[in-house]
Amino acid sequence: MHDTPLITMLVAGFVLAFLFGTIANRFKLPPLVGYLLAGIIVGPYTPGYVADPHLALELAEIGVILLMFGVGLHFSLKDLLSVRFIAVPGAIAQIAFATLLGWGLGQAMGWSHGGSLVFGLALSVASTVVLLKALQERRMVETEKGRIAVGWLIVEDLAMVMALVLIPAVAGVTGGAQAHSDPVALTLSQILGFDLGITGVILVTLVKVAGFIGFMLVFGRKLIPWILHHIAHTGSRELFRLGVLAIALGVAFGAAKLFGVSLALGAFFAGMILSESPLSHRAAQESLPLRDAFSVLFFVSVGMLFDPLSILRDPLPVVATVVIIVIGKSVAAFLIVLAFRRTAGTALTISASLAQIGEFSFILAELGVGLQLLPSEGRDLILAGAIISIILNPLVFWLCDRARPWFDARLSREEAQPSPAGLVEPAPPPEPDDVPEQPPTLLTDHTIVVGHGRVGSIVTQAVRSLGTPLLVIEDADKRIEAIRQEGVEVLTGNAVSADVLRLANLTGAHTIVVAIPDAFEAGQVTAQARAANPSICIIARAHSDDEIEHLKKFGADVVVMGEREIARGMVDFIKSHRPEKAGPAEEVGHA
Ligand code: AMP
Repeated sequence: MHDTPLITMLVAGFVLAFLFGTIANRFKLPPLVGYLLAGIIVGPYTPGYVADPHLALELAEIGVILLMFGVGLHFSLKDLLSVRFIAVPGAIAQIAFATLLGWGLGQAMGWSHGGSLVFGLALSVASTVVLLKALQERRMVETEKGRIAVGWLIVEDLAMVMALVLIPAVAGVTGGAQAHSDPVALTLSQILGFDLGITGVILVTLVKVAGFIGFMLVFGRKLIPWILHHIAHTGSRELFRLGVLAIALGVAFGAAKLFGVSLALGAFFAGMILSESPLSHRAAQESLPLRDAFSVLFFVSVGMLFDPLSILRDPLPVVATVVIIVIGKSVAAFLIVLAFRRTAGTALTISASLAQIGEFSFILAELGVGLQLLPSEGRDLILAGAIISIILNPLVFWLCDRARPWFDARLSREEAQPSPAGLVEPAPPPEPDDVPEQPPTLLTDHTIVVGHGRVGSIVTQAVRSLGTPLLVIEDADKRIEAIRQEGVEVLTGNAVSADVLRLANLTGAHTIVVAIPDAFEAGQVTAQARAANPSICIIARAHSDDEIEHLKKFGADVVVMGEREIARGMVDFIKSHRPEKAGPAEEVGHA
């Protein structure tokens, strides 16, 4: 067979990731542990087939682009600006602190100042893929915590764009050869007739980033939704899907090539600009399968770069690196978020999200080694730190969840004391999925409606008109406010969480309507409701026969399949508008 490295890499990557991901899932481990293992197996440090790691990393970038595009689709400019007061100073302070710790370790290892600085910077920046996957799994992207974490990520991303242009320039100043790697700065220096130095490089970078954002807000904002709107009107699903992909990849690539902005940032802005369009929901759906497939390749490519023996060769520096990433960075982020008068829950979520490193760290490490600033053992440490911190990340989230009640109890007691003078910022409003912050319901013999979207909102109207006590459980910020304004009692948070359900007085409730679209989640809510109250009436929502069976198995009394009801509605309409002389009505199935 002729040489097909790309196909071989894709096939080996997907097949092994699937295999090990499934095995990890079986052992109740996060699937990404399996993906990393698959990467180690196809990597150069283990015997057998060796895939091309650079090819893998490049393909993984497509995953990063689609992930950030997807996050942008859920983000408006208003959302982004609403978190700037915490995300900008928070991210900068945390980068500074983590860089200092990394620099200290580099110095202890006897590296140069430049090498230690690159090492510190590499440890300070979290992986986009790991962070977003963690937030998505916990349905947190659209909550206040999620917005702060994403805002923080954007600031880190911008800081790294700066670092990537500044490091060669600084190395050039000290080493001579690499000064003004930026061609624009170089041309400007030539035109002006004098050396712009590092200030010039910084200025040019800032102007390029501002130019990109300005371009997107002025032209992109009109052009991108217009293009998508027109494709949607062709009626071709295939073209629409292609259009979404072309916009996400095209803008990201253009941003990187023309404006020197990172691919991820470009994609985020493309998504954010589309978020205001009514088509954003469909665009998100269309990019989902590709996004998931390519983000799997990210983990495979990280695994490939990793030499398992490097841990055994010199374990102490590896441990120190992991401690800086997982503990040092987290504690810093935790304290910074608390200093901004957010709750312990938010502080813990932000710290857990950031307690890992990934793609940017590898790019920095490669750059550092290429410029002969960082010794290659520094790169090995960064890789080992990345893989270990990614594996530990679900555990860190779990620990943070456990620690939250403890912190909540302690901090709320402290807050009861008179606050020191000078703290002028008012406490922020309670956050949606901070379960302990909302009191349990006092309602009894009530109806609980889970999910207040297209289905749940109609159900609540009917329940209210019957005068039955009503409680809604909803996790999307935007909806919660609207329901409260209608005077309906709401529990905020993911209904799958036992903590949220506990507050809903299931034992005293009469009926629970599970009106959320995801059958797996609906199954978990149903099972918990049935376990808490054997006599509660459970009405659930499904989209297929399999889902009906699944929900009934978990204890639902009535399962309504959306599609069948749509058909019924249509048939009723046809029947009621039949011409007079038509024959007798037929059964739905024969119509
Ligand atoms: P729709 O599909 O339009 O009926 O919308 C479903 C609604 O349920 C949306 O408002 C979601 O935010 C909400 N929802 C979905 N899953 C959950 C969940 N696990 N917990 C709470 N609310 C949810």
